[in-house]
Amino acid sequence: MFVLEFKAKGKTTQYAAIDEAIRTAQLVRNKCVRFWMDNKGTGQKELYRHSTVLREEFSFVKALNSSACQASVERAYSAIARFYDNCRKATPGKKGYPQFKKNCRSVEYKTSGWKLAETRKQITFTDKKEIGKLKLKGTWDLNFYQLDQIKRVRLVRRADGYYVQFLFSADNKVEVEPTGKTVGLDVGLKEFYTDSQGHTEHNPRFYRTGEKRLKFKQRRVYRKKKGSANRKKAINRLGRVHLKISRQREEHAKRLARCVIQSNDLVAYEDLRIKNLVKNPCLAKSINDVGWYQFRKWLEYFGVKFGKVTVAVNPAYTSQECSNCGAIVKKSLSMRTHVCKCGFVIDRDWNAAINILKLALSTVGHTGTWILDPTALGDSTSTLAGVIQSEQVGSMNKESPLL
Ligand SMILES: [Zn+2]
Repeated sequence: MFVLEFKAKGKTTQYAAIDEAIRTAQLVRNKCVRFWMDNKGTGQKELYRHSTVLREEFSFVKALNSSACQASVERAYSAIARFYDNCRKATPGKKGYPQFKKNCRSVEYKTSGWKLAETRKQITFTDKKEIGKLKLKGTWDLNFYQLDQIKRVRLVRRADGYYVQFLFSADNKVEVEPTGKTVGLDVGLKEFYTDSQGHTEHNPRFYRTGEKRLKFKQRRVYRKKKGSANRKKAINRLGRVHLKISRQREEHAKRLARCVIQSNDLVAYEDLRIKNLVKNPCLAKSINDVGWYQFRKWLEYFGVKFGKVTVAVNPAYTSQECSNCGAIVKKSLSMRTHVCKCGFVIDRDWNAAINILKLALSTVGHTGTWILDPTALGDSTSTLAGVIQSEQVGSMNKESPLL
């Protein structure tokens, strides 16, 4: 699955119609969750049936294309299924009981309810939400693709406008020559990561400058009167800064991940979720979690795409163990250098990266490939240590044209 995204251009009334469609999709999703809460043993079939009841009950639900309605049911059900899954696996911590959504930003159509123009530069939504014809602005040319490859069409609202996403079903695996190299990565606070060759990748500057600008814009919001038009404007500006930073982060994570995957046959990294669960002293790393999860997501995505192996290892002891002799050398967070009795002195993160690679290689040697639930990536709380994830496609589908 991959996604092509376009900016949607239309009239204000059309944007209002998109908002209305998004609201309806949200309502259907929430009503389904409610129905599941009230009726024990509700499955996906019952939810579909419930959505037809909703269509009879509310004219505005009926106005939404029926397959878009179904897609909302599926959203509700995936939240429910995830919850069940977490319960079944008895993962420690929160199980993720399905919540009501208050701030949905998108509505998803399947293969009906929309039509592309002959030129494929415009899309018309044909259901009774009266969104009508939107111009598609973007660098992609839809003419390169077969129409029957488009499995979903999504309308997304962001701080800087509306977007149309086309989800394609396509196997875009790429054959590449093996490089003969393997690498272990240790993520840190100070550096983005340190690899097992001792190379460090610095945190990009926009991590810091972005934070400053966010604070600045946030203050601006507080200074405006509550409920005023100026406050709304300030909120929108803050949203745009958020959007810009998250795009920068995503691009950075993607570029880096692609580079790492392309120059290695096996990439090992820590399973940070486990790291947080075992509550080891490196918990401070969680500050950088967002960037790191994005990076990991892209590593796994490109791993699949380029046929490389990605391994998430148990982070326990990776920073304490001596990568030369295996002895445990206790150190606090502030100790930046690993000094062992065996005479081995090395940068702390470099030592950890070597351990991570070693662990991964020992795992690959005898466990083979385990296929996990591909939809679980990103919000799974149960990725096992040492599980090879080259088969995990996950929810990755946002490969942008910027690559
Ligand atoms: Zn040693």
